[in-house]
Amino acid sequence: MNQLPSIDRQVFLDSLTQYLNANDQGTLGLLLIDVVNLYKTNHSYGYNCGDQTLQHCFTQLQSISRLPDTVFRIGDHLFAFILPELNSPAFIALAFNKISSLLQQDLIIDEQPIDLDFRIGIALNEATEFTAEKTLLIAEASLKQAKTSQHGSFSLDQTESEINKTQLLEKLFAERLKANDFMLYYQPKVNLQTGEIDSAEALLRWEIAEQKFVSPQVAVEIAEKTGQSLALTKWVIHTAIRQLKDWEKQGLQVSVSVNIPANLIQDPELFTLVQDSLAIWGVHRSRLTLEITESAIIEDIKAGFDNLQKLKQFGVDISIDDFGTGYSSLSYFKQIPANELKIDKSFVLNLLNDTQDQEIVKIIIEIAQLFELKLVAEGIENQQTYDCLKNLGCDYGQGFHMSRPLPAEKFYQLLQSKSPA
Ligand code: C2E
Ligand code: MG
Ligand code: MG
Repeated sequence: MNQLPSIDRQVFLDSLTQYLNANDQGTLGLLLIDVVNLYKTNHSYGYNCGDQTLQHCFTQLQSISRLPDTVFRIGDHLFAFILPELNSPAFIALAFNKISSLLQQDLIIDEQPIDLDFRIGIALNEATEFTAEKTLLIAEASLKQAKTSQHGSFSLDQTESEINKTQLLEKLFAERLKANDFMLYYQPKVNLQTGEIDSAEALLRWEIAEQKFVSPQVAVEIAEKTGQSLALTKWVIHTAIRQLKDWEKQGLQVSVSVNIPANLIQDPELFTLVQDSLAIWGVHRSRLTLEITESAIIEDIKAGFDNLQKLKQFGVDISIDDFGTGYSSLSYFKQIPANELKIDKSFVLNLLNDTQDQEIVKIIIEIAQLFELKLVAEGIENQQTYDCLKNLGCDYGQGFHMSRPLPAEKFYQLLQSKSPA
């Protein structure tokens, strides 16, 4: 094991100053990483183990720094990480995520599992207007806030910088949307009775760093909050329908479901968007399903389902997603403009062990039959659940047991491998 670096604030400040001087217009970022529970390791396993823990952190930080003299030990258990040139201030969120995930990995020293608890403080020096000392002060204030905050390890000092984690994500989201830099993954909807796949659900994927994804729910929330819901949904619908056309050219006839955010159901633009994108890509309307959560549909009841009715009459299918969580009254089903119900995965995941879930699922199956709705169960994670739903009379299912959501190419390969030669 390498020697633990000694603490040297001045060497760090000199290096920071040099980077600031060399980059007089750009944005420089500084992260302070504090291993806050080092004392516990020292007490439980001895100082040697504590030193090795610090050495491990130092080596991990060095492993992701691309430039020399950017990682320093500046306190007993405090490291500084300089990001000399950030193309966009939002990229500091990427560095933060990378460091967090590296330090969260399991660590074993001298056969002891080490519980590494750390906090990260951040400073952004835009147009490098601050001195090295001032930049460090900002990062220290941010670290202090991170240590006292309930929400864990990410914090920026609001008085020094307007940007916080949410704003960084929002900024990054806007950039990605502008660049169309998202992906759709496709999860097969399987006919439980025959095992055939003739449709897929398109699910948004936002890769923020290599193999690190922001949850689609977070992306959808950001879009809604920042007034970009329609723009995001436009991208989703066009991408999915275009994909259908590409598959069709490759000889694959499938349908696709896309998720529509609650706040767009009553937006007249939604109808135009659906109509236009089907026309642009030359895809038949019967091959598109719009998934809308049950709770959003209930909200829409007051507005009389006008938009949904219009879409259904136009010929696209409407699916009620996450069914069972929104407390629909049965009487709504007489007027609800839907073709499909999706049983929420919370009833499916424990189906085999929970008799209440089984009863609920049976009722939902009856509702679907009564109102002539196609029924899809989501969250099928094993063969027993698959068989159970099949025997109960559920038509379709989605779940990790059959396939996780896949990139378009992999989905195509899956279907090729299943089709009779
Ligand atoms: P959803 O529409 O109910 O999608 C099903 C979710 O269940 C997906 O999560 C899927 O990966 C997950 N899932 C599928 N099979 C299994 C399983 O066997 N076990 C478990 N535990 N989970 C399974 P994902 O992709 O993270 O999406 C979460 C939610 O984000 C979606 O729930 C949907 O509400 C929303 N979402 C995803 N993509 C979009 C989009 O393009 N637009 C909008 N507005 N919302 C989206
Ligand atoms: Mg869905
Ligand atoms: Mg769902």
